[in-house]
Amino acid sequence: MHLSPSENHRYLMENLQPSHSWDGSDLKQWQRKLRPKVKNLLGTTPKEKCDLNVRSIWKKKHKYGTIEKIVFTAEAFSDVPAYICLPDAVDEPYTFMICVQGHSGGMYNSIAVDPKNHKKTIAIKGDRDFGIGCMKRGIAALCIEQRSFGERQEKEQKMVANHGCHDATMHALMLGRTLTGERVYDVDRGIDYLASRGDVNMKKIGVMGNSGGGTVSLFSAATNPRIAFAMPSCYFNTFQDSIMSIYHCMDNYIPGILELAEMSDVMGLFAPKPIVIVAGRDDELFPVEATKKAFKELKKIYKAAGAEKKIHLVIGDGGHRFYADDAWPKMLKEIKKL
Ligand SMILES: [Zn+2]
Repeated sequence: MHLSPSENHRYLMENLQPSHSWDGSDLKQWQRKLRPKVKNLLGTTPKEKCDLNVRSIWKKKHKYGTIEKIVFTAEAFSDVPAYICLPDAVDEPYTFMICVQGHSGGMYNSIAVDPKNHKKTIAIKGDRDFGIGCMKRGIAALCIEQRSFGERQEKEQKMVANHGCHDATMHALMLGRTLTGERVYDVDRGIDYLASRGDVNMKKIGVMGNSGGGTVSLFSAATNPRIAFAMPSCYFNTFQDSIMSIYHCMDNYIPGILELAEMSDVMGLFAPKPIVIVAGRDDELFPVEATKKAFKELKKIYKAAGAEKKIHLVIGDGGHRFYADDAWPKMLKEIKKL
């Protein structure tokens, strides 16, 4: 007898032939077909973009530059706190990295401060101080607070499941949306904000993040033409070997995506733009062997784009975290070529 639903799902998954897997046909045509379908699965977004209504909260000097906290409005009743990190060492127009945290305490990790007191610096584990890491290397950063994390965690609903993403994920599904799609939308509004500043090189905007930040980095890169480089960490894998085999937060699940494509196909929508994929040798959530397998598939797509040399796989000697010293040299080299 087969009584566990997972037995049936595994059978279905293993016998599934995704309708839009990379098939070696004309690359641009394939991308043109798959991209709108992925966007569609990420869910609906507002028909019209609202005024960003940018507010400055505070500004401070830092060893490597200036950090400002702002809030902008992504859509009705949805405000996005963010940090702008501008490095002293370089002049305008700035190359920008949009930094998104995963299931951590929130965006304060990106600038390594106490969440209750931005004047107090704290040590951050796993190189998750992305904004500081950017400034240190002459890259400006926009560090976004993602929906359901940090300052944007749910406070109005009583969460039966006692999980920060539960209500947001489920309600989004009922509204024809996904929480990932909403987070991707926030990244797009972040780029609108960058466009409004006047000191940004709009051809040099990238995205990075670890874990849940890697998810949003990958889907943003795949669907947003304004992103020029990407550095997803501890997410790139196969859907089959990660979120379909190991327990993950519900915000990872995009309804119907397995019928359409695997993760390497989604990332392949970014070809021929440069990517540094970061993985952890001992990552238990996104097993490295499956990352290698997916990378091989991605390489085929990049080869067809004549951009095989623009993708890099960096495997850090540890678990589920970012590896700044391994990843950044490769990313900086690619940014220089843009
Ligand atoms: Zn979550």
